[in-house]
Amino acid sequence: MAHLQLKKLVKKYPNGFEAVHGIDLDVKDGEFMVLVGPSGCAKSTTLRMIAGLESVTAGEIRIGERVVNTLVPGRRGIAMVFQNYALYPHMKVRKNLSFGLRLAGRPKDEIEAATKEVAEILEIEALLDRLPKELSGGQAQRVALGRALIKKPEVFLFDEPLSNLDAKLRASMRVRITDLHRRLKEEGRPATVIYVTHDQTEAMTMGDRICVMKEGHIMQVADPVTLYDKPENAFVAGFIGTPEMNLMNAQLSIAGSHTLKIGNQTISLADELASRIKASADDSEVILGIRPQHFHLAPEGTADTLSGEVTALEFMGHEVYLHVNVEGNSLIAVIPGEEYDPTNVRGSKVCLKVNESRAHVFDRESGKNISFT
Ligand code: ADP
Repeated sequence: MAHLQLKKLVKKYPNGFEAVHGIDLDVKDGEFMVLVGPSGCAKSTTLRMIAGLESVTAGEIRIGERVVNTLVPGRRGIAMVFQNYALYPHMKVRKNLSFGLRLAGRPKDEIEAATKEVAEILEIEALLDRLPKELSGGQAQRVALGRALIKKPEVFLFDEPLSNLDAKLRASMRVRITDLHRRLKEEGRPATVIYVTHDQTEAMTMGDRICVMKEGHIMQVADPVTLYDKPENAFVAGFIGTPEMNLMNAQLSIAGSHTLKIGNQTISLADELASRIKASADDSEVILGIRPQHFHLAPEGTADTLSGEVTALEFMGHEVYLHVNVEGNSLIAVIPGEEYDPTNVRGSKVCLKVNESRAHVFDRESGKNISFT
């Protein structure tokens, strides 16, 4: 297996559009790295360059000790799993699985043994004599996975492999893939994985580390807990987490006690948050970031709360999503079911207390988190 490095990688398409702006990324041997970001942020372009399906404009791609920039895909030691499975429709599952090995002229008994092993790992032994059209979506995706696995590649590349499946199947395939990755590691043959998705839940549940991209730049690379708790910028903060983090414009005053002014409301900050904020000027323009789970309902008139009007309610059973308009900001507060006060109906006024120890403050111009410890 191998580690993978991208160094100052640039992609400019023939029409002059630069999609990737010199990114650096280090994926460790056996690591499960997820590339995530909104549509158009260049996840696929990056993956396709690694695969050799797209040329590199500048920079370097290394797999293990080799620079692979100009190697044809077949010589890079990679295997790719696509969104649309790309199974050969006229071949039975057995032949689909072994196609690559047969093409490479491997001996018959080796091909048979490898097919059997992969079919066992993915629990598709009973499907070996079926045609792709006789498979469900999840089964077809497992065969596609098997076709990559049988090659024993140095690096696995996944391009949105679950996006054609329904929500339930997607959830079970997530577990299956991460379980497979873990098992291969335990068996002493770790697989390095680059997994592209636009789905932050997939990224958070599957990745050892996650690379968040925006418009051809890398915004942060970190493990899921760090991304959630310590987003380096407002973009990552807003992208990771469900419902999304509430981001609202505020004025930060640091003369005397620290205060944040949101529209016509001002809250004084407790020492803990105040001491974390690194602001160079008084009255600076910032973005206050609070996850919906980090608000609490407080009695009306409680000091240092944000008050607003409930615009919508969503009952989820164990919790309630309260949509609250605070000074023109449309905020969401997630209230545990047992704390929800049924008098808070649409149109009623509520006071939201901020859990400051979990709040973030971002510089409005650069988007950078200025409230790190
Ligand atoms: P993602 O996978 O994150 O959705 P892509 O890698 O597909 O993003 O695309 C990144 C950017 O590059 C987009 O703005 C897209 O329009 C552009 N792009 C993709 N392919 C081409 C191409 N062949 N020629 C020009 N621009 C392209």
